[in-house]
Amino acid sequence: MSRFYDGFQPKHAARCDSCQTSPIFGSRYKCNECDNFDLCEECYSIDKFGVANTSHNEAHSVKMILSNLDEKAYSVHTQCCNGCKTPKYPGNRYKCKVCSDFNLCERCHGDDRFAPFDNENVSHINSHEMEVCTFSEQKHHNYEQWKGMTIKLQHHFGSQLGTRYWDKHNSNNPEEWKNLGKKIGHALYGPPTVIPTDILIFGYNSTVTLMIRSLKFVKIN
Ligand SMILES: [Zn+2]
Ligand SMILES: [Zn+2]
Ligand SMILES: [Zn+2]
Ligand SMILES: [Zn+2]
Repeated sequence: MSRFYDGFQPKHAARCDSCQTSPIFGSRYKCNECDNFDLCEECYSIDKFGVANTSHNEAHSVKMILSNLDEKAYSVHTQCCNGCKTPKYPGNRYKCKVCSDFNLCERCHGDDRFAPFDNENVSHINSHEMEVCTFSEQKHHNYEQWKGMTIKLQHHFGSQLGTRYWDKHNSNNPEEWKNLGKKIGHALYGPPTVIPTDILIFGYNSTVTLMIRSLKFVKIN
């Protein structure tokens, strides 16, 4: 995509089986039980599974997969969660004081739920005392983390361009819309990567163009 993000891709090359959005931005949620069933962050958080879905339901354990960008921007635990099988996750980690090597992510611990796989010999029960493992406050963020956090902030502010009442654009004026799109593209993806055409009007490839077009803006009239 852009030279700006190398190794810091904010997206997954996957389609959300509920809202059909592709690629998936932010975290991706992959069902451990259904065959090839993915959700975007929004659909996962409101338990929206799609009209065509006939197999998935909220009882299924779902693994969270961070985007490269999120993985770099946050401190992450790398002890796989025994509940949902998420391999890397931010937030707290809960380590069982009774079982040897049994960890839960914040989500599984908060839901008081874990769903170990059938092929796993797990003796953990909810009444076991858990130790909270956080990231040390003293530990300074490394360069990669600073870079990741900076890109995330830039991404956030870039995607907010044109969404405030004081920054609204005239939807009847194609030039105004095109300029706003270029501004957002520059904030999110760095300098343009292709020569603008009638279709790629902002100067980015079709994936980026679709992404910019999908943002919601405040319009005059
Ligand atoms: Zn979705
Ligand atoms: Zn499922
Ligand atoms: Zn978990
Ligand atoms: Zn235990």
